[in-house]
Amino acid sequence: MNVPHPDDALAASLSAAGTDRIVYDLTGIERQFDALADELPGAHIRFALKACPEDEVLRALAERGAGFDAASPAEITQALRTGVAPARIHYGNTIKSDHDIAEAHRLSVRTFATDSVEDVRAIARHAPGSRVFCRLATSGDGALWGLNRKFGCAPDDAVRVLDTARAAGLTPAGLSVHVGSQQMTCEAWQQALDTLAETMAALAGRGIALDHVNLGGGLPALGYRDRRGNPLDPPLDKILTVLREGMDRLRGLTPSPLAFVVEPGRHLVADHGAVRAHVSRLTRRRQPDGTDVYWLYLSCGKFNGLYEMDQLTHRMVFPGHLDEREHVHAVVAGPTCDSDDAYGDGRHPVSVPASLTSGDPVWILSAGAYATSYMTQGFNGIRPLPCVCVRGQEGHD
Ligand SMILES: *Cc1c(COP(=O)(O)O)cnc(C)c1O
Repeated sequence: MNVPHPDDALAASLSAAGTDRIVYDLTGIERQFDALADELPGAHIRFALKACPEDEVLRALAERGAGFDAASPAEITQALRTGVAPARIHYGNTIKSDHDIAEAHRLSVRTFATDSVEDVRAIARHAPGSRVFCRLATSGDGALWGLNRKFGCAPDDAVRVLDTARAAGLTPAGLSVHVGSQQMTCEAWQQALDTLAETMAALAGRGIALDHVNLGGGLPALGYRDRRGNPLDPPLDKILTVLREGMDRLRGLTPSPLAFVVEPGRHLVADHGAVRAHVSRLTRRRQPDGTDVYWLYLSCGKFNGLYEMDQLTHRMVFPGHLDEREHVHAVVAGPTCDSDDAYGDGRHPVSVPASLTSGDPVWILSAGAYATSYMTQGFNGIRPLPCVCVRGQEGHD
């Protein structure tokens, strides 16, 4: 549900808010979790907590049965605060120092992502006896954020990495992929599943039988718009079908039971968080080429909640102007002195009510993912947005 119904908890909280904030609908997040668990039976859901590191959200997910994909000792500590067992937390970042590994081990985490022999040797020394899963590289094609090049290795290198792990006294437990964040195509998943199958066969040839496959993140949110303001409309149902079929196929490749892990980040939280911001100013300026351009400056932008505005735009609701007939095309931008702080590179105007004035509230929808984690501390003196969680009919203020 990317469009808040006027009487739901999110809309109620947004309309009651007198000042800027980000609001999460815990009930919506829980429903999203349940829906994914129904769609992918047999897959363990490990929420990638960087997408929304808010204690209340993490606690709600943990109570529903989620575990966590953590990327640092601080994230592990935050995940443990929910009361979840350390066995439901894995260290999913391939990049970690000796100190990070030792800290994770001290915090009782025993499962680590890796993609290099150097990292495996460090895990063997600082987290002896642990389970490792090797991340395979993907192209990132079809995703809004590819996550390629920096992570993952080729299938033959994964065999070398897991062989090294076994020789070093670790358990070569699994393989992982990440098809790129907000992945829009089924083909990317198909390709990742092919690479997993190929690598599993090569590992079997070395006498290594995995006990799990981690399909990573990348599942899309449904409420985003592209840079020009058109709905993105990802084929979620088809993607889930490809995943179910792929899981069956991989299960058929090993005689021993194969468990699956998924690490959704944005898919669980994006459409259930919204920002209440306000209009700073609607202006019209003549450009050096003689054309007039409208700019709508909001109190919230790239540095205080809408970090992903380089690739996408959000649906906006101006609650005081719902019946307004007269609209203008305006480039929408945040409040700072940085020219990157603008939607669509500052090049794609969208339709906004013509009579917007300073102070008018605006609701920015499907803004729940990577919002609080990417907020700067005080760029141009702008403080991070306060975060409010609502549930049912509570949370009005
Ligand atoms: C960020 C991240 C995720 C979550 O990605 P989404 O695209 O938000 O689902 C999952 N796994 C790993 C290893 C990540 O780094």
